[in-house]
Parts: sequence; C-alpha cells; structure tokens
Amino acid sequence: MTDDARKQRVLIVDDASENIRVLAQVLKSMCKISFATNGKEALDLVASGPPIDLVLLDIMMPELDGYEVCRRLKTSEKTKNIPIIFITAMAEEEDETRGLELGAVDYITKPFSKAIVKARVRTHLELKRHRDVLENLSSLDGLTGIPNRRRFDEFIETGWRTGIREASQLSMIMIDIDYFGAYNNSYNHLAGDDCLKRVAKTLAKGLHRPTDFAARYGGEEFSVVLPRTDLVGAVHMAEKMRKAVEDLRIIHEPSPVSDWVTISLGVASVTPFKEGTASFLIQGSDRVLFEAKRAGRNRVKSIQL
Ligand code: GH3
Ligand code: MG
Ligand code: MG
Repeated sequence: MTDDARKQRVLIVDDASENIRVLAQVLKSMCKISFATNGKEALDLVASGPPIDLVLLDIMMPELDGYEVCRRLKTSEKTKNIPIIFITAMAEEEDETRGLELGAVDYITKPFSKAIVKARVRTHLELKRHRDVLENLSSLDGLTGIPNRRRFDEFIETGWRTGIREASQLSMIMIDIDYFGAYNNSYNHLAGDDCLKRVAKTLAKGLHRPTDFAARYGGEEFSVVLPRTDLVGAVHMAEKMRKAVEDLRIIHEPSPVSDWVTISLGVASVTPFKEGTASFLIQGSDRVLFEAKRAGRNRVKSIQL
C-alpha cells in the first residue's frame, strides 16, 4: 500500500497569518498544506487530522511555544518521526542549537528567502518519502499489503505495555481460513493467493478505530489486535468479520462446511499484567481458534483470560 504518488502534506504553524499565507504560496506547488495559528491547534491537527509529513514551526507563539510543540511531538511514539523545521526570527546561535537538540531537522531564520525555504522543504520531503518507502517495505506483507508478522509482534507488545499502564483490556483475534489446503488444490496457487488478498482486505476494512490493527500472521492465518476492547466488543468484531468473509461469496467447492470460503476465529481478552508477555494472549486465542475448528469451522470461539 505504498503510494509513491501520494502528495505529501506540510503543516505550517505560525501565530501570524501573514507568514502562513506567504509560506503556503511558496510551497503549494509541491505539497498539500495544513496550517495552525497556535501550538495547541497544531498538536490537535497532528493527532487527529490527515497524516503530516513535515512541520514548519514558528518558535515565538503565545501559550505553547514552538520548542514545547516540538518537544511534545518528539515524545509521542506516533508523531516522533515527523520531521520539524523551525522557521523563526530568533536568530541567535543558542536558539538554533536548542531547536536542533530538540530533534528538529533544520532551522530557517526570518526574514527568509523563498527560494531557500522551497529548496530545504523539498529536500526534507524527499527524505521523508524515502523513509516511508523503506518502512513500508519492511513492515508490510508482500502478497496482501497489510502489516506482516514482524509488525504484528511489535504492535502487540506495545499493546501489552499500554494495557498494563492503563489497566485496560487488550483483545486479539486469531483467524484461519477453512480448508484452504483443499482450496489451493482445487483452484491452484494463484487463485489461492488471490483469495488471501481478498480476505486480508476484508478484514482490514472491518476495523474502524485508529488503534485497531490487522496483520497477516503467516500462511493463511491472520491476526487482529484490539486495544482497549473487552471480550464482548472483540467477539462482536470477530462475528462481523466472519460474516464479511462469508459474504464475499468466494466459491469453495471442496469445503465440507460451506459453498464459499469461510474463516474460523479465536478471540481472547486479557488485562495485561507485569509478569506476563503478549504471547500469553496469542496462545489463548490460538487455543480457542482450534476449538472453533473442532466445533465445525466457520465460527467464533472466545475466552476471557
Ligand atoms: P483448516 O480448515 O483445518 O484450517 O484446513 P486448512 O487446509 O486450511 O489447513 P492447513 O493448515 O492444513 O493448510 C493450510 C494451507 O494453506 C496450506 C497451503 O496450501 C495454503 N497456503 C498457506 N500459505 C499460502 C500462500 O501464501 N498462498 C497460497 N496460495 N496458499 C497458501
Ligand atoms: Mg492454518
Ligand atoms: Mg486453514
């Protein structure tokens, strides 16, 4: 799902709207623009607006200044990799040093040359794009385009730690396609691959919260992680996924349980605890997936751990 053609987005943060106007004018041919006129608005936009590839950040602003906005962006896992360029009238060497030490990639002083701003922004957007491509190559499954096992392992470990901190429930769903060996034998491997892609897409589309996560666990197995979700909520999601895959109506002649491709699902929920690791949850969902298979497939089984 790497989209090289995607237009990148720059967030301009400045309390003087005239500065925003001029910068937007300079940059609009090479990227999409968001803007904020104070620090809080900027943080809100980064947290819940469209993805930002680069922030142009003024330093002197009332209330939250640019340094503080930078510090907060750099301390959050979700936002720490967004490059920040300070663009400011504070031209002392120590101002610039402080900005760079906080993790900014560049520092431009006002009054700025339009050509220089443009050139530097272009450079940093290019670097950001390369990094995004590399990141995607190593964390997405090559066949289905959804996150791979490596990414899943990272994600669920993070979820486990968050669950401990928040004392919130962490749920996961282990999913396996029914009689997929027979599907491959009847329709050949290419058809099998195609089926995997469609199932993956359907599972990923079924998730709505930004914190929900679906990955290809291996072969014809998928896994879904639902942070801050209890067993009732997770079973509800699992049942919706089961039905969504059945509703694809992918013909599966040799399947003894249905005319179409179906999945079995094992749901497990736990409040993560210090002495344990995420593998406790993974094993739990694996066990109930096996029960779902044994009980006849195309169904959901669950366990509160
Ligand atoms: P069950 O209902 O018990 O899960 O039966 P099953 O046949 O799905 O189970 P099994 O684990 O024995 O078979 C999994 C099969 O999935 C083996 C292989 O043919 C197929 N498979 C695994 N990975 C891929 C893949 O990347 N592409 C294709 N086309 N097939 C795959
Ligand atoms: Mg299997
Ligand atoms: Mg299977």
